[in-house]
Amino acid sequence: MTSFDLETYTQGLTDFITASPCAAFTAHTLSEIYSSQGFKPVDPSQPWPQKPGRYFLRRKGALIAWIVPAGSPKGFRIIGSHTDSPAFKLKPTPDSLSPDGWGQLNVEVYGGMLPNSWLNRELGIAGVVYDRSGRCHLVRTGAIATIPQLAPHLDRESANKLELDRQQHLHPLWYVGSSQRRILEVIAEQAGLNGAGEISSHELYTFDTHEPQRLGTNREFLASARQDNLLSVYSATQALLSLAEKDFQGENILVSAAFDHEEVGSHTETGVAGPLLEQVLRRCALTENKPDAFERMLAESSCLSADVAHSVNPNYPEKHDPDTRPMMGAGPVLKLNASQRYATDAQGWHIWEDAARRCGVKTQCFVSNNAVTCGSTIAPMTATRLGITTIDVGVPILSMHSAREICALGDQVEIAKIMQSYLQK
Ligand SMILES: [Zn+2]
Repeated sequence: MTSFDLETYTQGLTDFITASPCAAFTAHTLSEIYSSQGFKPVDPSQPWPQKPGRYFLRRKGALIAWIVPAGSPKGFRIIGSHTDSPAFKLKPTPDSLSPDGWGQLNVEVYGGMLPNSWLNRELGIAGVVYDRSGRCHLVRTGAIATIPQLAPHLDRESANKLELDRQQHLHPLWYVGSSQRRILEVIAEQAGLNGAGEISSHELYTFDTHEPQRLGTNREFLASARQDNLLSVYSATQALLSLAEKDFQGENILVSAAFDHEEVGSHTETGVAGPLLEQVLRRCALTENKPDAFERMLAESSCLSADVAHSVNPNYPEKHDPDTRPMMGAGPVLKLNASQRYATDAQGWHIWEDAARRCGVKTQCFVSNNAVTCGSTIAPMTATRLGITTIDVGVPILSMHSAREICALGDQVEIAKIMQSYLQK
Protein backbone atom coordinates (compact mmCIF):
# COMPACT_ATOMS: atom_id res chain seq x y z
CA MET A 1 0.00 0.00 0.00
CA THR A 2 1.33 3.41 -0.87
CA SER A 3 0.66 6.29 1.46
CA PHE A 4 1.52 9.97 1.44
CA ASP A 5 1.00 10.14 5.21
CA LEU A 6 4.35 11.38 6.60
CA GLU A 7 4.86 8.63 9.18
CA THR A 8 3.95 5.77 6.87
CA TYR A 9 5.99 7.24 4.03
CA THR A 10 9.02 7.69 6.29
CA GLN A 11 8.88 4.11 7.49
CA GLY A 12 8.70 2.86 3.91
CA LEU A 13 11.56 5.11 2.84
CA THR A 14 13.90 4.08 5.66
CA ASP A 15 13.14 0.39 5.06
CA PHE A 16 13.89 0.92 1.36
CA ILE A 17 17.24 2.60 2.07
CA THR A 18 18.26 -0.14 4.51
CA ALA A 19 17.30 -2.85 2.02
CA SER A 20 19.33 -1.21 -0.77
CA PRO A 21 23.06 -1.01 0.13
CA CYS A 22 24.16 -0.79 -3.53
CA ALA A 23 22.63 -0.54 -7.02
CA ALA A 24 22.15 -4.29 -7.51
CA PHE A 25 20.23 -4.46 -4.24
CA THR A 26 18.18 -1.37 -5.13
CA ALA A 27 17.03 -3.04 -8.35
CA HIS A 28 16.30 -6.23 -6.42
CA THR A 29 14.32 -4.36 -3.73
CA LEU A 30 12.33 -2.57 -6.44
CA SER A 31 11.55 -5.86 -8.19
CA GLU A 32 10.17 -7.25 -4.92
CA ILE A 33 8.04 -4.16 -4.33
CA TYR A 34 6.65 -4.14 -7.87
CA SER A 35 6.01 -7.91 -7.88
CA SER A 36 4.08 -7.62 -4.63
CA GLN A 37 1.89 -4.94 -6.25
CA GLY A 38 0.94 -7.06 -9.25
CA PHE A 39 3.54 -5.82 -11.76
CA LYS A 40 4.72 -8.61 -14.08
CA PRO A 41 8.42 -9.10 -14.82
CA VAL A 42 9.25 -8.81 -18.53
CA ASP A 43 11.99 -10.90 -20.14
CA PRO A 44 13.46 -8.89 -23.03
CA SER A 45 14.47 -12.08 -24.87
CA GLN A 46 10.78 -13.06 -25.13
CA PRO A 47 7.90 -11.51 -27.13
CA TRP A 48 6.78 -8.20 -25.61
CA PRO A 49 3.49 -8.14 -23.65
CA GLN A 50 0.71 -6.94 -25.94
CA LYS A 51 -1.98 -6.19 -23.36
CA PRO A 52 -2.61 -3.23 -21.07
CA GLY A 53 -1.22 -3.89 -17.60
CA ARG A 54 1.65 -3.33 -15.16
CA TYR A 55 5.14 -4.49 -15.98
CA PHE A 56 8.78 -4.13 -15.00
CA LEU A 57 12.11 -4.99 -16.54
CA ARG A 58 15.14 -5.43 -14.30
CA ARG A 59 18.59 -5.46 -15.77
CA LYS A 60 21.50 -5.75 -13.31
CA GLY A 61 21.46 -2.52 -11.22
CA ALA A 62 18.68 -0.84 -13.23
CA LEU A 63 14.91 -1.31 -13.25
CA ILE A 64 12.16 0.19 -15.39
CA ALA A 65 8.51 -0.20 -14.36
CA TRP A 66 5.53 0.89 -16.45
CA ILE A 67 1.76 0.89 -16.65
CA VAL A 68 0.04 0.50 -20.03
CA PRO A 69 -3.52 1.87 -20.07
CA ALA A 70 -6.36 0.43 -22.13
CA GLY A 71 -6.94 1.97 -25.57
CA SER A 72 -4.31 3.68 -27.73
CA PRO A 73 -1.83 5.51 -25.49
CA LYS A 74 -0.88 9.01 -26.68
CA GLY A 75 2.63 9.26 -25.23
CA PHE A 76 4.87 8.48 -22.28
CA ARG A 77 5.08 10.14 -18.87
CA ILE A 78 8.50 9.15 -17.56
CA ILE A 79 10.17 9.70 -14.19
CA GLY A 80 13.94 9.06 -14.23
CA SER A 81 16.20 8.45 -11.24
CA HIS A 82 19.35 6.50 -10.37
CA THR A 83 20.07 3.52 -8.15
CA ASP A 84 23.80 3.98 -7.49
CA SER A 85 25.72 6.06 -4.92
CA PRO A 86 29.41 6.76 -4.26
CA ALA A 87 31.22 3.92 -2.44
CA PHE A 88 34.41 1.89 -2.46
CA LYS A 89 34.49 -1.05 -4.85
CA LEU A 90 36.58 -4.14 -4.12
CA LYS A 91 39.44 -4.63 -6.55
CA PRO A 92 39.76 -8.00 -8.36
CA THR A 93 42.55 -8.87 -5.90
CA PRO A 94 40.78 -7.61 -2.79
CA ASP A 95 43.11 -8.86 -0.04
CA SER A 96 46.23 -7.18 1.21
CA LEU A 97 48.32 -7.82 4.29
CA SER A 98 50.30 -4.98 5.84
CA PRO A 99 53.82 -5.68 7.17
CA ASP A 100 52.39 -5.26 10.69
CA GLY A 101 49.78 -7.95 10.16
CA TRP A 102 46.69 -5.89 9.34
CA GLY A 103 44.31 -7.60 6.94
CA GLN A 104 43.11 -4.87 4.61
CA LEU A 105 40.86 -4.57 1.57
CA ASN A 106 42.04 -3.26 -1.79
CA VAL A 107 39.43 -0.85 -3.09
CA GLU A 108 38.76 1.57 -5.93
CA VAL A 109 36.77 4.77 -5.50
CA TYR A 110 33.33 4.63 -7.17
CA GLY A 111 31.79 8.03 -7.93
CA GLY A 112 32.49 11.54 -6.68
CA MET A 113 32.59 10.74 -3.00
CA LEU A 114 33.82 12.76 -0.04
CA PRO A 115 36.39 10.21 1.25
CA ASN A 116 36.64 11.84 4.69
CA SER A 117 33.00 10.96 5.34
CA TRP A 118 33.84 7.24 5.07
CA LEU A 119 36.40 7.33 7.88
CA ASN A 120 35.64 5.78 11.29
CA ARG A 121 32.48 4.00 10.17
CA GLU A 122 31.42 0.39 10.49
CA LEU A 123 31.35 -0.87 6.93
CA GLY A 124 29.70 -3.89 5.34
CA ILE A 125 30.25 -5.32 1.86
CA ALA A 126 27.37 -5.82 -0.58
CA GLY A 127 26.94 -6.63 -4.24
CA VAL A 128 26.85 -9.56 -6.63
CA VAL A 129 29.01 -12.61 -7.27
CA TYR A 130 28.77 -15.05 -10.16
CA ASP A 131 29.51 -18.67 -9.33
CA ARG A 132 31.30 -21.05 -11.69
CA SER A 133 28.03 -22.19 -13.23
CA GLY A 134 27.17 -18.57 -14.13
CA ARG A 135 24.53 -18.07 -11.45
CA CYS A 136 24.34 -14.59 -9.96
CA HIS A 137 24.06 -14.24 -6.16
CA LEU A 138 23.26 -11.10 -4.20
CA VAL A 139 25.43 -10.93 -1.09
CA ARG A 140 25.56 -8.65 1.91
CA THR A 141 27.68 -8.90 5.05
CA GLY A 142 27.22 -7.24 8.42
CA ALA A 143 29.72 -4.68 9.76
CA ILE A 144 33.13 -6.20 9.03
CA ALA A 145 35.52 -3.36 8.17
CA THR A 146 36.49 0.22 8.97
CA ILE A 147 38.83 2.94 7.67
CA PRO A 148 40.56 4.39 10.73
CA GLN A 149 41.48 8.07 10.67
CA LEU A 150 44.94 9.10 11.78
CA ALA A 151 45.04 10.78 15.23
CA PRO A 152 45.76 14.54 15.04
CA HIS A 153 48.75 14.00 17.36
CA LEU A 154 50.47 12.12 14.54
CA ASP A 155 49.77 14.80 11.92
CA ARG A 156 49.31 18.26 13.45
CA GLU A 157 48.32 19.70 10.06
CA SER A 158 45.38 17.34 9.62
CA ALA A 159 43.15 19.13 12.13
CA ASN A 160 42.95 22.06 9.69
CA LYS A 161 43.69 20.46 6.35
CA LEU A 162 42.88 16.83 5.79
CA GLU A 163 44.62 15.22 2.84
CA LEU A 164 43.70 11.68 1.92
CA ASP A 165 45.70 9.83 -0.70
CA ARG A 166 43.22 7.65 -2.55
CA GLN A 167 45.66 4.78 -3.01
CA GLN A 168 47.34 4.84 0.37
CA HIS A 169 44.94 6.12 3.01
CA LEU A 170 41.61 4.52 2.21
CA HIS A 171 42.13 0.78 2.64
CA PRO A 172 39.45 -0.60 4.98
CA LEU A 173 40.97 -2.87 7.64
CA TRP A 174 39.07 -5.97 8.60
CA TYR A 175 41.29 -8.09 10.88
CA VAL A 176 44.62 -8.18 12.66
CA GLY A 177 46.77 -11.15 13.50
CA SER A 178 48.10 -14.19 11.77
CA SER A 179 44.88 -15.73 10.49
CA GLN A 180 45.42 -14.66 6.84
CA ARG A 181 41.72 -14.53 6.10
CA ARG A 182 40.37 -13.98 2.60
CA ILE A 183 37.43 -11.67 2.06
CA LEU A 184 36.03 -13.83 -0.74
CA GLU A 185 35.74 -16.73 1.73
CA VAL A 186 33.38 -14.56 3.80
CA ILE A 187 31.50 -13.54 0.67
CA ALA A 188 31.23 -17.16 -0.53
CA GLU A 189 29.76 -18.15 2.80
CA GLN A 190 27.18 -15.37 2.56
CA ALA A 191 26.29 -16.56 -0.94
CA GLY A 192 25.88 -20.14 0.24
CA LEU A 193 28.82 -21.29 -1.90
CA ASN A 194 31.39 -23.88 -1.09
CA GLY A 195 34.41 -21.62 -0.62
CA ALA A 196 36.00 -18.75 -2.55
CA GLY A 197 37.05 -21.14 -5.32
CA GLU A 198 33.39 -21.29 -6.35
CA ILE A 199 33.34 -17.54 -7.06
CA SER A 200 33.96 -16.80 -10.71
CA SER A 201 33.58 -12.98 -10.61
CA HIS A 202 32.32 -10.20 -8.37
CA GLU A 203 31.10 -6.63 -8.11
CA LEU A 204 31.21 -5.70 -4.43
CA TYR A 205 30.91 -2.34 -2.69
CA THR A 206 31.34 -1.02 0.82
CA PHE A 207 28.30 0.42 2.59
CA ASP A 208 27.79 2.16 5.93
CA THR A 209 25.95 -0.24 8.24
CA HIS A 210 24.56 2.58 10.40
CA GLU A 211 20.73 2.59 10.16
CA PRO A 212 18.84 5.69 8.99
CA GLN A 213 17.92 7.96 11.89
CA ARG A 214 15.41 10.78 12.30
CA LEU A 215 16.56 13.90 14.08
CA GLY A 216 15.31 17.31 15.15
CA THR A 217 12.93 18.18 17.97
CA ASN A 218 10.03 17.43 15.63
CA ARG A 219 11.96 14.54 14.08
CA GLU A 220 11.62 16.39 10.78
CA PHE A 221 15.04 15.48 9.36
CA LEU A 222 16.41 12.16 8.20
CA ALA A 223 20.10 11.22 8.26
CA SER A 224 21.07 8.16 6.24
CA ALA A 225 23.33 6.79 3.55
CA ARG A 226 22.51 6.91 -0.17
CA GLN A 227 19.83 9.63 -0.12
CA ASP A 228 21.39 10.56 -3.47
CA ASN A 229 19.46 9.09 -5.12
CA LEU A 230 17.32 6.57 -3.26
CA LEU A 231 15.05 9.45 -2.17
CA SER A 232 14.06 10.00 -5.81
CA VAL A 233 13.85 6.30 -6.64
CA TYR A 234 11.48 5.85 -3.71
CA SER A 235 9.26 8.87 -4.47
CA ALA A 236 8.96 7.86 -8.14
CA THR A 237 8.03 4.32 -7.09
CA GLN A 238 5.40 5.58 -4.65
CA ALA A 239 3.90 7.89 -7.28
CA LEU A 240 3.62 5.09 -9.84
CA LEU A 241 2.26 2.56 -7.33
CA SER A 242 -0.34 5.01 -6.03
CA LEU A 243 -1.84 5.20 -9.52
CA ALA A 244 -1.63 1.44 -10.04
CA GLU A 245 -3.63 0.94 -6.84
CA LYS A 246 -6.31 3.35 -7.99
CA ASP A 247 -6.48 1.54 -11.35
CA PHE A 248 -5.86 4.91 -12.95
CA GLN A 249 -6.66 4.80 -16.67
CA GLY A 250 -5.05 7.78 -18.36
CA GLU A 251 -4.02 8.44 -21.94
CA ASN A 252 -0.30 7.80 -21.49
CA ILE A 253 2.03 4.95 -20.67
CA LEU A 254 3.44 5.75 -17.22
CA VAL A 255 7.08 4.89 -16.65
CA SER A 256 9.47 4.96 -13.69
CA ALA A 257 13.05 4.32 -14.83
CA ALA A 258 15.81 3.83 -12.25
CA PHE A 259 19.22 3.73 -13.96
CA ASP A 260 22.61 2.60 -12.70
CA HIS A 261 26.01 4.32 -13.03
CA GLU A 262 24.90 7.97 -12.79
CA GLU A 263 27.74 8.65 -10.36
CA VAL A 264 30.30 7.59 -12.98
CA GLY A 265 28.81 9.32 -16.01
CA SER A 266 25.96 7.01 -17.16
CA HIS A 267 27.67 5.76 -20.35
CA THR A 268 27.04 2.08 -19.65
CA GLU A 269 24.69 -0.75 -20.57
CA THR A 270 22.38 0.11 -17.67
CA GLY A 271 23.12 3.85 -17.44
CA VAL A 272 20.83 6.47 -18.91
CA ALA A 273 23.16 6.99 -21.89
CA GLY A 274 22.66 3.31 -22.79
CA PRO A 275 19.76 1.90 -24.84
CA LEU A 276 17.63 0.45 -22.03
CA LEU A 277 14.88 3.08 -21.76
CA GLU A 278 14.58 3.56 -25.50
CA GLN A 279 14.24 -0.20 -26.01
CA VAL A 280 11.42 -0.42 -23.47
CA LEU A 281 9.57 2.59 -24.91
CA ARG A 282 10.02 1.43 -28.51
CA ARG A 283 8.75 -2.08 -27.80
CA CYS A 284 5.76 -0.66 -25.90
CA ALA A 285 4.96 1.59 -28.89
CA LEU A 286 5.31 -1.27 -31.40
CA THR A 287 2.31 -3.02 -29.88
CA GLU A 288 0.30 -0.30 -31.68
CA ASN A 289 1.18 -1.97 -35.02
CA LYS A 290 1.89 1.32 -36.75
CA PRO A 291 5.38 1.88 -38.19
CA ASP A 292 5.78 5.41 -36.80
CA ALA A 293 4.00 4.79 -33.47
CA PHE A 294 7.21 5.25 -31.46
CA GLU A 295 8.07 8.63 -32.97
CA ARG A 296 4.45 9.79 -32.73
CA MET A 297 4.34 8.85 -29.07
CA LEU A 298 7.68 10.52 -28.33
CA ALA A 299 6.29 13.75 -29.76
CA GLU A 300 3.63 13.60 -27.02
CA SER A 301 6.02 12.63 -24.20
CA SER A 302 8.01 14.21 -21.40
CA CYS A 303 10.37 13.15 -18.63
CA LEU A 304 10.74 14.31 -15.05
CA SER A 305 14.33 13.61 -14.08
CA ALA A 306 14.59 13.37 -10.30
CA ASP A 307 17.84 13.70 -8.38
CA VAL A 308 18.73 15.43 -5.14
CA ALA A 309 19.32 19.20 -5.09
CA HIS A 310 21.60 21.48 -3.06
CA SER A 311 19.96 23.07 -0.04
CA VAL A 312 21.61 26.26 1.19
CA ASN A 313 24.21 25.17 3.74
CA PRO A 314 24.08 27.54 6.73
CA ASN A 315 27.86 27.37 7.19
CA TYR A 316 28.51 28.28 3.54
CA PRO A 317 25.65 30.66 2.67
CA GLU A 318 27.78 32.39 0.00
CA LYS A 319 27.87 29.30 -2.21
CA HIS A 320 24.32 29.86 -3.52
CA ASP A 321 22.92 32.64 -5.66
CA PRO A 322 22.04 35.55 -3.32
CA ASP A 323 18.45 35.67 -4.58
CA THR A 324 17.72 31.97 -5.13
CA ARG A 325 17.90 30.20 -1.80
CA PRO A 326 16.52 26.63 -1.89
CA MET A 327 16.09 25.40 1.66
CA MET A 328 15.68 21.90 2.94
CA GLY A 329 12.13 21.54 4.25
CA ALA A 330 10.68 24.29 2.05
CA GLY A 331 9.56 22.07 -0.82
CA PRO A 332 10.81 20.21 -3.91
CA VAL A 333 13.21 22.02 -6.24
CA LEU A 334 13.19 22.74 -9.98
CA LYS A 335 16.76 23.00 -11.34
CA LEU A 336 17.67 25.45 -14.10
CA ASN A 337 20.97 26.17 -15.81
CA ALA A 338 21.63 28.40 -18.83
CA SER A 339 24.36 26.05 -20.10
CA GLN A 340 21.82 23.19 -19.96
CA ARG A 341 23.71 21.14 -17.41
CA TYR A 342 20.15 20.86 -16.16
CA ALA A 343 17.75 20.10 -19.00
CA THR A 344 14.77 22.20 -17.84
CA ASP A 345 13.44 24.63 -20.46
CA ALA A 346 10.43 26.96 -20.28
CA GLN A 347 8.03 24.25 -21.46
CA GLY A 348 9.37 21.80 -18.86
CA TRP A 349 9.20 24.50 -16.19
CA HIS A 350 5.53 24.99 -17.04
CA ILE A 351 4.84 21.23 -16.85
CA TRP A 352 6.39 21.15 -13.34
CA GLU A 353 4.52 24.27 -12.14
CA ASP A 354 1.28 22.90 -13.52
CA ALA A 355 1.75 19.51 -11.79
CA ALA A 356 2.60 21.23 -8.48
CA ARG A 357 -0.37 23.60 -8.73
CA ARG A 358 -2.80 20.77 -9.35
CA CYS A 359 -1.79 19.05 -6.10
CA GLY A 360 -1.26 22.27 -4.11
CA VAL A 361 2.47 21.77 -3.38
CA LYS A 362 4.83 24.70 -2.93
CA THR A 363 8.10 24.47 -4.86
CA GLN A 364 11.49 26.19 -5.02
CA CYS A 365 14.12 26.84 -7.70
CA PHE A 366 17.82 26.14 -7.91
CA VAL A 367 20.10 28.13 -10.17
CA SER A 368 23.85 28.38 -9.61
CA ASN A 369 25.81 31.21 -8.19
CA ASN A 370 27.71 32.24 -11.35
CA ALA A 371 31.03 31.80 -9.58
CA VAL A 372 30.22 28.20 -8.54
CA THR A 373 29.70 25.53 -11.22
CA CYS A 374 26.74 23.23 -10.71
CA GLY A 375 26.54 19.46 -11.04
CA SER A 376 24.64 17.60 -13.70
CA THR A 377 22.54 14.45 -13.75
CA ILE A 378 20.71 12.11 -16.10
CA ALA A 379 18.29 14.64 -17.62
CA PRO A 380 20.44 16.14 -20.42
CA MET A 381 21.08 12.56 -21.63
CA THR A 382 17.38 11.62 -21.61
CA ALA A 383 16.66 14.83 -23.53
CA THR A 384 19.37 14.25 -26.15
CA ARG A 385 18.75 10.52 -26.58
CA LEU A 386 14.98 10.69 -26.93
CA GLY A 387 14.40 14.30 -27.96
CA ILE A 388 11.66 14.84 -25.40
CA THR A 389 11.02 17.69 -22.98
CA THR A 390 12.95 16.84 -19.82
CA ILE A 391 12.66 18.56 -16.48
CA ASP A 392 15.35 18.47 -13.78
CA VAL A 393 13.91 18.32 -10.28
CA GLY A 394 14.70 16.95 -6.83
CA VAL A 395 14.50 17.42 -3.09
CA PRO A 396 17.05 19.70 -1.40
CA ILE A 397 19.52 17.89 0.85
CA LEU A 398 22.70 18.64 2.81
CA SER A 399 25.96 16.68 2.95
CA MET A 400 25.47 15.51 -0.64
CA HIS A 401 27.90 12.71 -1.65
CA SER A 402 28.87 12.10 1.99
CA ALA A 403 28.58 8.58 3.31
CA ARG A 404 25.67 9.98 5.35
CA GLU A 405 23.35 12.66 3.97
CA ILE A 406 20.53 14.75 5.44
CA CYS A 407 17.08 15.65 4.13
CA ALA A 408 13.80 17.03 5.45
CA LEU A 409 11.06 14.41 5.45
CA GLY A 410 8.26 16.80 4.51
CA ASP A 411 9.88 17.40 1.10
CA GLN A 412 9.79 13.68 0.32
CA VAL A 413 6.02 13.40 0.54
CA GLU A 414 5.61 16.65 -1.38
CA ILE A 415 7.69 15.54 -4.36
CA ALA A 416 5.85 12.20 -4.48
CA LYS A 417 2.59 14.18 -4.75
CA ILE A 418 3.95 16.27 -7.63
CA MET A 419 5.17 13.13 -9.39
CA GLN A 420 1.74 11.56 -9.03
CA SER A 421 0.13 14.72 -10.39
CA TYR A 422 2.63 14.84 -13.30
CA LEU A 423 1.94 11.21 -14.27
CA GLN A 424 -1.82 11.81 -14.31
CA LYS A 425 -1.86 14.49 -17.05
ZN1 LIG B 1 22.39 11.83 -7.85
